[in-house]
Amino acid sequence: MLDKIVIANRGEIALRILRACKELNIKTVAVHSDIDRDLKHVLLADESICIGPAQLIKSYLNIPALISAAEITGATAIHPGYGFLSENADFAEQVESSGFIFIGPKAETIRLMGDKISAISTMKAFGIPCIPGSDGPLSNKIKINHEIADKIGYPVIIKASRGGGGRGMHVVYQKKDLERYINITKIEAKSIFNNDMIYMEKYIENPRHIEIQVIADGKGNALYLGERDCSIQRRHQKLLEESPALNISSELKKYIGELCSKTFIEIGYKGVGTFEFLYKQEHFYFMEVNTRIQVEHTLTEMITDIDLIKGQIRIANDETLWIKQKDIQFRGHAIECRINAEDSNTFIPNTGKIKRFHAPGGLGVRWESHIYTGYNISPYYDSMIGKLITYGENRNIAIARMKNALSELIIDGIKTNINLHNKIMHDKDFINGNTNIYYLNKNFKQN
Ligand code: ADP
Repeated sequence: MLDKIVIANRGEIALRILRACKELNIKTVAVHSDIDRDLKHVLLADESICIGPAQLIKSYLNIPALISAAEITGATAIHPGYGFLSENADFAEQVESSGFIFIGPKAETIRLMGDKISAISTMKAFGIPCIPGSDGPLSNKIKINHEIADKIGYPVIIKASRGGGGRGMHVVYQKKDLERYINITKIEAKSIFNNDMIYMEKYIENPRHIEIQVIADGKGNALYLGERDCSIQRRHQKLLEESPALNISSELKKYIGELCSKTFIEIGYKGVGTFEFLYKQEHFYFMEVNTRIQVEHTLTEMITDIDLIKGQIRIANDETLWIKQKDIQFRGHAIECRINAEDSNTFIPNTGKIKRFHAPGGLGVRWESHIYTGYNISPYYDSMIGKLITYGENRNIAIARMKNALSELIIDGIKTNINLHNKIMHDKDFINGNTNIYYLNKNFKQN
């Protein structure tokens, strides 16, 4: 077994990884910026190293500092968590060439999937249903781009091939706006992702976001671990997720799940990964593969009883998948509310000190967070400060438990979105499963 792991992340996911390592009797090294000394996982880790100041580029994105931390502590592997360097193929490559194990897929797989254009063409070749689109990067020839858009049919969406975090995409409803939005997306793509490759696809109106969790060992075995509905989004970013997804037949779920795991076997994928789809009228449309653990992995854990972080570590340790598809059972229902330090109306992040904190509890309630009374929310990091997950033998029970848990959760001193989640739990459309990616915009008008 890997005997010592560097946790190259912070916040709730660093704590989550630490807990999994402890269960597996693996020693942990927490790396942290100078303002993160008092994070829970730093205090609980076997060793901790300050890798630089608060600015991301100087600490959590500082590849030489992370690799030195592994060298100094004699670690065997590095877990990247999500965000930060988790989908950075160069980082994965440098970790491996420095003699450590990167807990995640091979660098070449991350590179292939990290570029959405190459990911789409790979998936098409394996029969994964894709969105009608430009089938490659857009050229500078406006006439050709018009022909592509006319063929796809308006509305279309222009997206950055290296995009992420819901940024670098624009919808175009009319021919006259095409050129302008292509130029805007190109400029944004260059400035945010340092790569101006863009592509076009059909803009699917009012779809749901459904994703499939897969785990593969890189030795010819893969399992699909069900789906998650992540339609409740703001600014193309997820806010609330649930599993299983409502109103999709089990035959269709099985079909798409098997197709995803078969594809991972074919491409020699090693680790956990998620196929993200848009879903409308019984059709799945592939968007991208995330080659890392996702924030909402917790839902899958609740309904399958499989610890995905331990799964990642065991696969990185070269184990052959220890379970078979026929042994996987999907039981009950789970909901996750992302608790963000942000204004519920404007979604603008909020910073400051937490004056009073109380965690919720009870049967079927899971609280994943690093915050405490006195914790200072810094503008340097993501506004998500915790994940509240409830589980029940059916959806109604999961919702009832979420209502309770939200009412018990106290975070004073900063603005949070607890109330918004509470409103969603009481909303008729949510309760009836009438949601799509525009649900929040429509039902909860923002300023
Ligand atoms: P990112 O990598 O930035 O998260 P994705 O490709 O996963 O980008 O898309 C994020 C979200 O943007 C989706 O969940 C959906 O809400 C919206 N979106 C992306 N592509 C389309 C499309 N073709 N039609 C409609 N909505 C889309």
